[in-house]
Amino acid sequence: MHKQDQPLIFELTKPGRIGYSLPELDVPEASLSELLPEEFIRQEEPNLPEVSELDIMRHYTALSRRNHGVDSGFYPLGSCTMKYNPKINENVARFPGFAHVHPLQEAGTVQGALELMYDLQQHLKEITGMDEVTLQPAAGAHGEWTGLMMIRAFHEANGDLDRVKVIVPDSAHGTNPASATVAGLQTVTVKSGPDGLVDLEDLKKVVGPDTAALMLTNPNTLGLFEEQITEMAEIIHGVGGKLYYDGANLNAVLSKARPGDMGFDVVHLNLHKTFTGPHGGGGPGSGPVGVKKDLIPFLPKPLVVKEGEEFKLDYDRPQSIGRVKPYYGNFGINVRAYTYIRSMGPDGLKAVTEYAVLNANYMMRRLAEYYDLPYDKHCKHEFVLSARRQKKLGVRALDIAKRLLDFGYHPPTIYFPLNVEECMMIEPTETESKETLDGFIDAMIQIAKEAQEQPEIVQEAPHTTVISRLDEALAARKPVLRYQLQSNR
Ligand SMILES: *Cc1c(COP(=O)(O)O)cnc(C)c1O
Repeated sequence: MHKQDQPLIFELTKPGRIGYSLPELDVPEASLSELLPEEFIRQEEPNLPEVSELDIMRHYTALSRRNHGVDSGFYPLGSCTMKYNPKINENVARFPGFAHVHPLQEAGTVQGALELMYDLQQHLKEITGMDEVTLQPAAGAHGEWTGLMMIRAFHEANGDLDRVKVIVPDSAHGTNPASATVAGLQTVTVKSGPDGLVDLEDLKKVVGPDTAALMLTNPNTLGLFEEQITEMAEIIHGVGGKLYYDGANLNAVLSKARPGDMGFDVVHLNLHKTFTGPHGGGGPGSGPVGVKKDLIPFLPKPLVVKEGEEFKLDYDRPQSIGRVKPYYGNFGINVRAYTYIRSMGPDGLKAVTEYAVLNANYMMRRLAEYYDLPYDKHCKHEFVLSARRQKKLGVRALDIAKRLLDFGYHPPTIYFPLNVEECMMIEPTETESKETLDGFIDAMIQIAKEAQEQPEIVQEAPHTTVISRLDEALAARKPVLRYQLQSNR
């Protein structure tokens, strides 16, 4: 299975070899037992790799070449918005005044950083149509949880203790029901109709005096705009519930429509998606949450505020749900988002949406000749195809995803949303050229032809990667199998 065996860093170990050199100790050596209680001092040396600086450099450089990233190739992973992150963001985030501030500095000494946070809050308020914004949450799911905790606190402050149900459509991102559960609320699923949009009749059946909120992604994860959003808002507000907008993929509506104007009370944004923070692989994210007026008292504290010409951290918020993140959020990602918003300007942000939607529709229409299109209507930033036609030939969405690797493309999201058979969810994003889109379309067309003529090529893919087909479940459960085997010996 391993075509080019890359040794593990542990296998490169030569006892005694070290990759660093420190100056000679010029202070008295402290003994560990003076610093730590006896029971915390390890009895055995840790098993660490022993390699030279050059070995370690080559090792990680070799590994990095095996990575697929937005900077190395097309990455149409639906719902993840793997678009290009402009490098000016990195330059600005490295300004010493941003990179070297300490989170415990007095507000008076970090006015520039606070001003950036305050300004970013203002921009996000304008972009979402909300009345106030917190920058604290560290990711989209964290923003969801923060928003739901505020909704919960709001209902509790009104003595509405029985509002424990969060209505989530069956096409929602998996984090939505998970966040509701972690927030101590219960999820109720509402069905989508045959048109891919929330079934209003089903919605009416599940709402009631126990409804805390409806959580909605719009456009939904099928890439379709929920056209009946005002009716939905009336139904939910009519029973005293709040409307939560999952704005992780705002590049579909940016500068065209605002959650606040659609009637939403809470929205989270994924700055690491729409606003170009590098993401994937679990790097830091940022999931600010915007709220309408009646939820402002419950925002996490502190909030960055402006008094006269001075920027301050406001801790005097008695109804706040508290702090949701140490310090003030992932500041570096917020700097990147701010840089992006300022360098794009209002016209640039409008173009983002137009190209995201145009690119997705172009690709959808061209691929619809070769793959089934379950919802035949204009999409927004992404669309879903079904490989059910190919499945009859013995080729599944998983096989197509693997075959795309041979063409140098990251596969789309597959088997999600669950309500589409053999689903492939494709998000080309706005930053790709027509040539790149055409290249991917050509590869998909070729794969569709292979499925008809030589299905085994697709079934056995990938053929050109370092490692061929993995046992997916084993890879997820035991990502470092070889090392575990070795250390068990
Ligand atoms: C990505 C995404 C999320 C989760 O965001 P994280 O930052 O990964 O926690 C939630 N909802 C939707 C629609 C998303 O696309």
